[in-house]
Amino acid sequence: MRVALIDGKAFAGMLREKIAREVADLKETHGLVPGLAVVLVGQDPASEVYVRSKGTQTRAAGMASFEHKLPETTPQTELVALIERLNADPAVHGILVQLPLPGHMDATAVIDAIAPAKDVDGFHISNVGLLGTGRTAMVPCTPVGCLMLLRDRHGSLSGLNAVVVGRSNIVGKPMAQLLLGEDCTVTVAHSRTKDLAGICRRADILIAAVGQPGMVKPDWIKPGATVIDVGINRIERDGKSRLVGDVDAAAAEVAGALTPVPGGVGPMTIACLLANTVTACRRAHGLAA
Ligand code: NDP
Repeated sequence: MRVALIDGKAFAGMLREKIAREVADLKETHGLVPGLAVVLVGQDPASEVYVRSKGTQTRAAGMASFEHKLPETTPQTELVALIERLNADPAVHGILVQLPLPGHMDATAVIDAIAPAKDVDGFHISNVGLLGTGRTAMVPCTPVGCLMLLRDRHGSLSGLNAVVVGRSNIVGKPMAQLLLGEDCTVTVAHSRTKDLAGICRRADILIAAVGQPGMVKPDWIKPGATVIDVGINRIERDGKSRLVGDVDAAAAEVAGALTPVPGGVGPMTIACLLANTVTACRRAHGLAA
């Protein structure tokens, strides 16, 4: 069987073009410019790369980008005060606080300070509750990006067996909620799951969001299944640093479709962040979103 590689990079490129057209239309028809504020505390190199990339892509889509870089030692009260100013700023429709935060901060309290309507990461407890009860919510970017790729491949997902490996608040749990919303039969697996390989083998759709390089082996995969590899792991091989996913490369011999790493889920995440910001802007101005 020949695997179909799911080209998230190309899909994300098309999505960004669609967003840019929508942004241009918002500007022309309503005089609105969607604005995204990204807050970075400290100097984590990976976070700096993400923040730079978010700023570049936001501006490329014709949106306003506001970047706030705070020193590592910033007191939490100061960060919360900044978030409150951004909550009140009408030019800012989306607020993203780059995680992880320094150890002296309580990330939950910081995220809870973001106005739910501007919570474009979908991590605020109000949005988590809305998603969990099947209501209109801001949905976390990575799972919604995975869902777009799945819908593009399958059309309807109704009745399919979906297994999500990983139960984090930012990927695994919202992914499971979205798949339930699509009428999949969903199993969520984690580090205490017994017979993980056997459970994965039942999946028509297998989502790996674990953070363990190459953990999902080819004999864990049902022949023809669609495999979405969310993992981004940096490893050293042959003296070179490279990115690999949570799924063993040999899975391509068994799966029907597979997202590569890099170039699969990763590019979808920022594109969905831009889409959420446009949605937040439309809702803020009473426009259908
Ligand atoms: P977390 O570390 O928060 O969660 C990992 C999950 O995997 C946990 O639920 C954990 O189980 C489970 N797990 C860990 N080891 C095993 C194991 N051996 N067997 C079964 N389950 C296991 O990670 P995230 O959800 O934040 O991220 C997961 C991966 O996705 C990472 O590689 C991350 O870099 C990547 N990622 C990619 C993004 C993208 O844009 N493509 C965005 C966000 C993340 P338990 O709960 O029991 O500990």
